[in-house]
Amino acid sequence: MKIGIPKALLYYKYRIMWRSFLEDLNCEVVVSPNTNKAIMDTGENYSIDESCTSAKIFMGHVSWLIGKCDYILIPRIESYANGDTVCTKFYALYDICRSTFPEAKFICYNVDYAHHQTEWKAYKQLGEALGASVFHTRRAYLNAKNELTVYEKILQSNQDDLIHSDNLKVLIVSHPYNIYDEMLGTPIIRFLKDLNVDVFFADIPDSADMCAKSKHLSRSMYWHYNKEIVGSISHYESIIDGIIFLTTFPCGPDSLTVELLLRKIKGIPMTNLVVDSNTGEAGLHTRIESFIDIIAEKKKRGDEYVG
Ligand code: SF4
Repeated sequence: MKIGIPKALLYYKYRIMWRSFLEDLNCEVVVSPNTNKAIMDTGENYSIDESCTSAKIFMGHVSWLIGKCDYILIPRIESYANGDTVCTKFYALYDICRSTFPEAKFICYNVDYAHHQTEWKAYKQLGEALGASVFHTRRAYLNAKNELTVYEKILQSNQDDLIHSDNLKVLIVSHPYNIYDEMLGTPIIRFLKDLNVDVFFADIPDSADMCAKSKHLSRSMYWHYNKEIVGSISHYESIIDGIIFLTTFPCGPDSLTVELLLRKIKGIPMTNLVVDSNTGEAGLHTRIESFIDIIAEKKKRGDEYVG
């Protein structure tokens, strides 16, 4: 059986786990390509105007996969703990895609800890839908989870190695699906590396630890994925020279979160880049270059930053 995975949104969080689990259950995995102009345009055509660019891109990837696999995997994630929630897009995507693409077949799993639907229960149901025994599914789930944990630890250790470098250090505070998307964050990361800046990614440190640390900046932060990336600011504040917020237009959770952080964080230069399908690289480069000039000057002079 061929299972399609859209290279967008939760792909960047769970790709290692999904591939391992599905291949263990003898499925072939088909991943859509990096986001390109055609995928972005298609996604826009299939989305309502009010949708965020990240979700529009997701629709473009789903459309690309239609006809190239038997089922497209779209999880429905609602909560990771009691009193916890995520952006409503992650509740709704499966249903949105079913109604937008009635010709396609989708496969789903639901994670909602607040209603006792744990990740294992969700994968058990997914395994059942794919015709695997509970024993086989359990083994595949545990292996996949372990592979993801090992991969995350390697990323964390690589990022920690940068702490002692003498280069300028910038923390990118954004969701992984924005940071690593070929049309959104990747050109920005490339540009920063060309400027000899060490880039720290907010999504890499341990999730539970970051959710706990997010309380240093906001005790009432609402969305789980925002808590994860906000916690990274407290985690790295003593070693970074600047923060770049990267958000897609018109994201509700991020606009509220960034506004709050811009008011609360003192002493670290910050800039906010809001991107969509019409953002030109030239304008972004100018803004990033001037931001890097500012933090380089601040580091050189050791001045107290005001502004
Ligand atoms: S958090 Fe923002 S960018 Fe992410 S899916 Fe929700 S609205 Fe879109």
